[in-house]
Amino acid sequence: MMQQIKTNNREETVEAARQIGLSLQAGDVVCLTGGLGAGKTAFAAGLAQGLEVEDYVTSPTFTIVNEYQGRLPFFHFDVYRVYDPEALYEIGFEEYFERGGVVCIEWPNLILDLLPPRYIDIQIQVPEAAAHPDEREIIVRRPELI
Ligand code: ADP
Ligand code: MG
Repeated sequence: MMQQIKTNNREETVEAARQIGLSLQAGDVVCLTGGLGAGKTAFAAGLAQGLEVEDYVTSPTFTIVNEYQGRLPFFHFDVYRVYDPEALYEIGFEEYFERGGVVCIEWPNLILDLLPPRYIDIQIQVPEAAAHPDEREIIVRRPELI
């Protein structure tokens, strides 16, 4: 199933993500693809709101992962600076998928070999014909039910 969302500012992106966050279940994985400044971390913050996380969500770029507690655990990865996938093994990356929470990953395209087989795929971009710089186009693809 594919859904296309247009947003005009950060708040609208957070709200679109919050709506998705409301429906997330234990074991779900959300991959956020988009360039620097596209709004991946803003989207992650919205997912966290939908999961009833009360903490302020910040970019885990330098820490690789931030953990939050809401109605489910929320594990927010940013693998932009993971130059060597060995570093992910060292922090037990694969185990996060078994911890009964929601895993969210920024820059999943850098670790394609390490992704689980099924995840919610979010693509965020500034449309080519954007009328103003705060426009974003967000495409949500959910794995088929089996
Ligand atoms: P990323 O994690 O993709 O690098 P961030 O979420 O950290 O991006 O930053 C996105 C930046 O773009 C923020 O400064 C935010 O205020 C701004 N912005 C402008 N318009 C939007 C929008 N429609 N959705 C999300 N962020 C937006
Ligand atoms: Mg980010």
